[in-house]
Amino acid sequence: MCLNLSSKAGPKIPKGHARVFWGLDETDYSGVAVVSLGKHGLGINKLEEIHEGKESVRAAAAAGCRALDDVEIKDIKLETLGDAEAAAEGAGLSTWLYQGYKNEEKKKKLPKISLYGEEGETEWRVGIIKAQAQNWARELADTPANLMTPTIFSQRVSEVLTNLGVDVQVRDKSWAEQKKMGSFLSVARGSLEPPKFLEISYKGAENPSESPVTFVGKGVTFDAGGISLKPSSEMDEMRADMSGAACVAATIRAAAELKLKKNIVGLIPLTENLPSGHATKPGDLVRAMNGKTIIVDNTDAEGRLILADALCYAQEFNPRFILDIATLTGAMRVALSNSATGVFTNDGNLYETLRNAGTVTGDRVWRFPLWQHFTDEVTKKVKGADINNIAKCKGGGSCTAAAFLREFVTKDTPWMHLDIAGVMGPAHDELPYIPAGMTGRPTRQRPLQSAIAHTADREPGSPAGYALSHEHALLIDWHADSLKTRRRWATGTLLHLQSHTKYENVVTWECLREGYTFPMIHVCDTTPGMQRKDM
Ligand SMILES: [Zn+2]
Repeated sequence: MCLNLSSKAGPKIPKGHARVFWGLDETDYSGVAVVSLGKHGLGINKLEEIHEGKESVRAAAAAGCRALDDVEIKDIKLETLGDAEAAAEGAGLSTWLYQGYKNEEKKKKLPKISLYGEEGETEWRVGIIKAQAQNWARELADTPANLMTPTIFSQRVSEVLTNLGVDVQVRDKSWAEQKKMGSFLSVARGSLEPPKFLEISYKGAENPSESPVTFVGKGVTFDAGGISLKPSSEMDEMRADMSGAACVAATIRAAAELKLKKNIVGLIPLTENLPSGHATKPGDLVRAMNGKTIIVDNTDAEGRLILADALCYAQEFNPRFILDIATLTGAMRVALSNSATGVFTNDGNLYETLRNAGTVTGDRVWRFPLWQHFTDEVTKKVKGADINNIAKCKGGGSCTAAAFLREFVTKDTPWMHLDIAGVMGPAHDELPYIPAGMTGRPTRQRPLQSAIAHTADREPGSPAGYALSHEHALLIDWHADSLKTRRRWATGTLLHLQSHTKYENVVTWECLREGYTFPMIHVCDTTPGMQRKDM
């Protein structure tokens, strides 16, 4: 019997991989993908600062969807895999791809994904909303810069958020002039595209006057560096220099869809950074909204210039805290590669919340110093102005950038600065569930899990409802009516399953042999012509 089963199951399925079986179900599903989650019961790995169980589910869901997509199955139903939210994230992110303006006929048909059964419906919906928000951030970031100008970005974001009942104000150049945002406007001088300043307001709290969480996103829709021109190689990637802005917009979209009971303000300064006869020159002096004077020694350090004014303005909202997010420094990519977002903060508790959220979502953060040492580098050595937009010291570029921003936040305002230059993309399949292209990171982790104190309601490090057990992980499908019964069997009585159909044997045998648990992904194939003949 074992030999017989062995030939059906094939060799062991490695963790995070999938195998597609055909003909298991004679009625509803033409194919079934079996994915391996690896060891069951995985939790938080403290050294790695990651929840390995959730990450396994994301990777497995992605692998299953990819395997089915590869054989042209375009309607995929997934089991919860023990964690419906993580499964939805993995499936939602992995099945979306930026295709932009490709000829409709040449566009890859993206699979439709949905939950199998009713168990975990609420968590699944949360996961899908987060994944879709991140996919939107990916789309905004990957769109070519001539089709994602400050004006177009404002229109897109207004359309989507206004439909969700969120208030979006699009401010123009004259408004910024009235506000004395000389630092922001100095960046816009080099471009013919008019700058915009988005002010987004989501009111979900029961008390509408409750202090908001305030997000600030860097929205440089194309960064050529200005007069301090960048090298031409890979300059096209600078279309994504508005990834911070995209994350803020996507975050508020998800918050509105999830109807979070918080007030959120999103502030997004939008501009291009180009060289021209009007452009700011190295050594020029500009004045920010709080009156501080800035020498612009490097016009490619423009992100901090536009954030400076946005941070000043953010304080007018009496925020609970300010969180800015920006593709700020190449030095962050040098420091962390694409492993994590670098964080600078004046509030240790805020950081801990964020760090826990990173662990749970798989989108990690790492704290950097916000010391006087770096502040001195951008202030003390400057003659003729309060601050320089770059430091003359060697190295520490991300730290001196953060020190620069700190000059525009009052001491008693809790504030976090997220430098996402390393994680913005383009991705090259480093994360199993994010395909190539701009990543939209860290949309899922920042607001929903941490900043809005969503996780504060949960016990840090042990997300609600998460349990990866044999009972949840060994899932037998294709007869919905008997699913519950089968689950009960699955707890401790694996052998019973062997007396049922040959297909159950396939799964059971694998489990017994390897001590692994194999959840199943259910497949409903509606693609004409992709029925049995292709098996
Ligand atoms: Zn730049």
